[in-house]
Amino acid sequence: MPAFAAQAEPLTGRTLLQNMERLAQENTGLQADKAVDWEARAEMRPGAGTDDDIWLHLQATTSLTLICQRCMGPVDTPVAVDQWYRFVATEDIAMAEDDDAEEDLLVLEPQFDLLAVLEDELLMALPVVPMHAACPVVPPMQAGESGAIDDAPKKPNPFAVLAQLKNTKQ
Ligand SMILES: [Zn+2]
Repeated sequence: MPAFAAQAEPLTGRTLLQNMERLAQENTGLQADKAVDWEARAEMRPGAGTDDDIWLHLQATTSLTLICQRCMGPVDTPVAVDQWYRFVATEDIAMAEDDDAEEDLLVLEPQFDLLAVLEDELLMALPVVPMHAACPVVPPMQAGESGAIDDAPKKPNPFAVLAQLKNTKQ
């Protein structure tokens, strides 16, 4: 039984993104403080056999800077994982039962790597096409003939307004 499964309390952790190499490759820019907050909780449940099955609930949240596929600008994208797993004894059992099981199956190995499973899950949770809900700039294709990038009326700068008032008084 993995050590975490013997604990009644959930195991929580904060893993720096740079320690999840494959996931870090998806992130744009250097943000050394980006991290994944996660919680793993094991639960024993009656199984098909005489022994209880070990179940694992894995939850994680992080935020990655991805490339918006509409404007090609950086877009902060929250990524979350909330997944149940059931441990099985061997790869053969996992293959045989996988189609019928709603939960994901994991093979109970002495070298079971919780963070690798978590990283796989986060990679699968990434959006296929990252995109801003509303892009911060108008894409060049849709810009007017004038080439204006921002057609929105500019807010007056309060300092400029004050300076104008001051000038008219003098
Ligand atoms: Zn965008």
